[in-house]
Amino acid sequence: MGHHVVILGGSYGGIAAMRRLSKNPDLNITLIDQHPYHFLQTESYELISSNTSFEETIVSLPALAANYDHVTYKHRKVESIDLENRVVRLSSGECSYDTLIIALGSVTKRFECDEGIYNYSGGPKSLRGALRLNQFFQTELYKRLESAEKAKENFNIVVGGAGLSGVEIAAGMQHFFNRYYRSNALSCATLHIHLIASRESVLHGMHPQIIRIATRRLEKLRVKLHTRKRITAIEDHRVILSDESLIPFDFMIFAGGTMAAPVLQDLDIPKNQKGQCLVNPYLQLESDSDVYVVGDAAALCDKAGNPLPPTAQTAIQSGETAAHNILNTLSRQVPQKADLSIKGIAIALGGRYAAIDLKYLRIKGYPAYLIKKLIERLYKWPLRWQALRGYRRISSCRI
Ligand SMILES: Cc1cc2nc3c(=O)[nH]c(=O)nc-3n(C[C@H](O)[C@H](O)[C@H](O)COP(=O)(O)OP(=O)(O)OC[C@H]3O[C@@H](n4cnc5c(N)ncnc54)[C@H](O)[C@@H]3O)c2cc1C
Repeated sequence: MGHHVVILGGSYGGIAAMRRLSKNPDLNITLIDQHPYHFLQTESYELISSNTSFEETIVSLPALAANYDHVTYKHRKVESIDLENRVVRLSSGECSYDTLIIALGSVTKRFECDEGIYNYSGGPKSLRGALRLNQFFQTELYKRLESAEKAKENFNIVVGGAGLSGVEIAAGMQHFFNRYYRSNALSCATLHIHLIASRESVLHGMHPQIIRIATRRLEKLRVKLHTRKRITAIEDHRVILSDESLIPFDFMIFAGGTMAAPVLQDLDIPKNQKGQCLVNPYLQLESDSDVYVVGDAAALCDKAGNPLPPTAQTAIQSGETAAHNILNTLSRQVPQKADLSIKGIAIALGGRYAAIDLKYLRIKGYPAYLIKKLIERLYKWPLRWQALRGYRRISSCRI
């Protein structure tokens, strides 16, 4: 039995690590995730705004793992991690490791609110949340199609948080509704999408030109922007803002921030305010060099030590770095310090319109949309191809 590497979380970070490690035939790799799929969060705006089906936003983990000889996939929930005894407790059974990669990502931070409201709210970070949003819109539209009376009623959606995901979702949904309204003179004149930004603009911290492009686009689509306002409470289908104004809502989308995967809360190691694990420059825990933390679960920094926002790009880079360092350590070579950076940001702004910031170049409109689609496909297609090969392997074994 070779050296056993256990990877917790089969998303951007965990998969990047798995692909890199699988090149070493002496390793025995176990990939564990609570879902049998990798949800492509970077495409969830397409699912929410009904531009794609959910099958297009996932990659099968059992099939992907089957593409590799030394990778085993376990469909289990991680219940706890026992660093002292080098074992991970799962929803059923446990799994011991020689080296551990924690790639459990993050979850949407939700406001404190009445339990009942949770049925009318969702976040874009999970397939379930994105599907719930999409199904809610479709159902509401259908009701308005069937009943002229219902069509006169106000239909309010509040998007709490105007960072990248909040902006993409508000623009995508509003574009979808505008298109629907234009083709059906029946309804939706009363639809209002409210985007709440606690700062003076949407996309706080991004390049001013990108902020201008996004703001103009959102205004053109008729998204209602509320800047410099924070949500202070949620009660009875209304959000209460810091200026004491109230916005009633039929559906609420939480896009105001994330926190590290809840299972990490019980892990007794240093973390930041978002619950992300602090790691050394090699992405290991300071207290245990056999444990790596990558992606949104880690407090990642660039080479100069500046904190990096949680992105798929840095999740992939950190997964690859951790894998590289594991391989180096096993072959008694010096591990490498992580050199993580954000190469560019692509923001979908409804329909075939996007904005891209490539540091020295900013692009908007249809060309930016095409580049964004290309980036998404360059990530998705190789994975899908590998999953297809894995699926063929599984099917041929069954015969
Ligand atoms: C709407 C939206 C748009 C985005 N757009 C972009 C973009 O354009 N570009 C970009 O770079 N980034 C983007 N991001 C951010 C990006 O999606 C995240 O940073 C990225 O998903 C982090 O990857 P990860 O592998 O660290 O973790 P995650 O993707 O969060 O995955 C964690 C994995 O761990 C599993 N897991 C968690 N807990 C358990 C448990 N207890 N047991 C078993 N399994 C568990 C989950 O099922 C999941 O598969 C976007 C995010 C959103 C929400």
